[in-house]
Amino acid sequence: MLTEDILPYNLIMSTEWIPKEGLIRRAYEFAEKAHRGTKRLRGEPYLDHCIEVAKYVSDWSLGETAIAAALLHDVVEDTEYTLKNIEKEFGLEIANLVDGLTKIETMEYPEKADSESLRKILISSTKDLRILLVKLADRLSNMRTVESLPPERKKKYAWETAEIYAPLAYRLGMQKLSGDLEDMAFPFIYPDEYKWLTKEVKDDYSERQEYAEKVVPIVTKSLKEHKIEPVSIDSRAKRYYSLYKKLLRYDMDMSRVYDLVALRIVVQTVEECYAALGAIHQLWQPMPNRFKDYIARPKPNGYRSLHTTVFALDNKILEIQIRTKEMHEENELGIAAHWAYQQVKSSAEKNKKWTGVKDKSEMLWMEQLSNWQKHANDEDDFLESLKVDFFKDRIFVLTPQNDIIDLPAGATPVDFAYRIHSDVGDNCVGAKVNGKIAPLDYELQTRDVVDIITQKNRKPSEDWLRFVKTSLAKKHIREVLNEDSRRIRKKLIIPQLETKMANDDRPGYLKEVTAVFGEMKINITFLQSFTDNRGALSSVIVRSDVPSPDRIQKLMVRLKKIPGTKEVNHKISR
Ligand code: MN
Repeated sequence: MLTEDILPYNLIMSTEWIPKEGLIRRAYEFAEKAHRGTKRLRGEPYLDHCIEVAKYVSDWSLGETAIAAALLHDVVEDTEYTLKNIEKEFGLEIANLVDGLTKIETMEYPEKADSESLRKILISSTKDLRILLVKLADRLSNMRTVESLPPERKKKYAWETAEIYAPLAYRLGMQKLSGDLEDMAFPFIYPDEYKWLTKEVKDDYSERQEYAEKVVPIVTKSLKEHKIEPVSIDSRAKRYYSLYKKLLRYDMDMSRVYDLVALRIVVQTVEECYAALGAIHQLWQPMPNRFKDYIARPKPNGYRSLHTTVFALDNKILEIQIRTKEMHEENELGIAAHWAYQQVKSSAEKNKKWTGVKDKSEMLWMEQLSNWQKHANDEDDFLESLKVDFFKDRIFVLTPQNDIIDLPAGATPVDFAYRIHSDVGDNCVGAKVNGKIAPLDYELQTRDVVDIITQKNRKPSEDWLRFVKTSLAKKHIREVLNEDSRRIRKKLIIPQLETKMANDDRPGYLKEVTAVFGEMKINITFLQSFTDNRGALSSVIVRSDVPSPDRIQKLMVRLKKIPGTKEVNHKISR
């Protein structure tokens, strides 16, 4: 069976994968309510599309925040609900993701822009990588139903998919997704060429497939002799669209395409990769200049594998790819495979405990990604054209336990401390960067190892607001400071006007007094009345806010006019 020769994504409308409670469930219910009654062009419920997009995002392990955003991605654009509603319900992070997705969707592309500029526009308008990943999932879902679009839009949509989104997926190391998107788009962009190619290639495919399967036992035996137990050996057919592009370069001469069907050997370790290569080269003569070591020098998108082309059985040309299981998974999933650490991090933050991914290789990978533009590869001219860097504004630092923390450029140890835990931030008194004491406003650099020094019962300083970069740190610092000032205000004795009155004791007097304060809109904070021993004279004490001096005079005049009043005096107490 050929792998990858059919589109691997089945229609997934099941909601069984959605947890019974929690964020994803809430997002699902919100989306269900928002899209209720809406249908897509083919007549299926609109919600199906949202579930499908979220399922892809879930399969790529992008974390529950991204999954929730995927469920909500069309709410702002297509329903009466606004971004404010989403922010109120799900918080700023998800609202920002949805906002980014809405902006991409409603983006006005320049009329005559080429695909290169469009890719740049798309990338530069995206601040959070997850926005692009959810967008790719959206594209994948929409491409599956692209048939239902009107002909004009269909072609344009397919073209965008092949020229903007598929290269983007490739760029992110998501080879499989990239190939899927291209192959889905191909028949709509070049219908005639597609027909020709599929017809032309069909016989070649099955012929070469049979051949590849014939050599598998020979390879297996040879590997065994070298004490290598492969995880799997299978054959992979070249994708149609990439084959088409290759044929354009080779005068449409199929016989010059050696990797129409390639044999893929998956082994356990890197050592075994090279050992297997040695075994293959002993078995069959390698074709000169066709060996590529993408393990020692990975492709800029992170792809790792050994490629060689040999004259195999019956002297026929066969391409062979050798990689580890881990490489294979990463080659398929790309950045999504590496994005998992984000999920660990954010859930750790929520659970108020800290567990991180302890793998420096991820760090290297992220760095590699951030260096795309510097390592332009001549095989891949898109790289050169891509001058926008996703990670331009981000730095990646480490905890002493090698957990990776990503922060905006310019972030300080205080930002780092709050990212780990609000208590660590509040109690932060100093920081060690790479083992040396550093000022709290030190500008952290990628690869710095940061250790926060804390003391119990410490408070953030107002001064920190001057230099912190993350809104998370700002929010926590302000919260603590506000809490403090509220406490101080309470303790402060606010000046009060104390008014004493004496009069003949009679019913209703107290009411008349309070009425005067009320009419003058002076707030009473304390009220007491006394009757003397003989019951003849009554005195009243009123404490109130302090009005302006002339209003105090007015107040005195009005109080004196109350019948039976003997005496009124006042003082301002502190
Ligand atoms: Mn959508």
